[in-house]
Amino acid sequence: MKYCSLCGSTVKFTVPEQDNMTRAVCSSCHNVFYESPRIVVVTIPVWEEKILLCRRSIEPCRGFWCLPGGYLEKGETLEEGARREVLEETNADVEIIRLFTKTEILHIGLIMFCFLGRLRSPDCSAGMETLEVGLFKAQEIPGQKLAFEAHQFALNCYLDDPENLEVSSMSIHQDSPEA
Ligand code: ZN
Repeated sequence: MKYCSLCGSTVKFTVPEQDNMTRAVCSSCHNVFYESPRIVVVTIPVWEEKILLCRRSIEPCRGFWCLPGGYLEKGETLEEGARREVLEETNADVEIIRLFTKTEILHIGLIMFCFLGRLRSPDCSAGMETLEVGLFKAQEIPGQKLAFEAHQFALNCYLDDPENLEVSSMSIHQDSPEA
């Protein structure tokens, strides 16, 4: 950021008093802008032995398959956000079962929570940010890697052991496609 979103003055990057990290600070009103990680909520939606995937119609990674998911909105719980994203991207009605994986993408400040979900019916169709959707058995999943490393991690964990009750975690430190 270059300008204060409160008063429009220029910001400078400095360590505020009683702080130990560099922040954007307004040169006029002295507001400090704290940068927190954003939260992404993703679901592995399952119908019988099939997994619902969607193919992205938007960048980044247009044309790649991924799990339905997106940014958490203010005012919703993680589970509500995950369910809304499935509905928006695949027009499918999912019941969120439990947290399955957690991924921290440290260099871009993203935390992704992936839930297991049970579809209430196999009805699904492409939403606004989706080229197509598909229900795949494990051996039918498209061969190319999923759009994002964190999605691939979640899918791999599921394929390894769908009954695993432990939340699997991964931290990504370096440049790699955004989750
Ligand atoms: Zn200001």
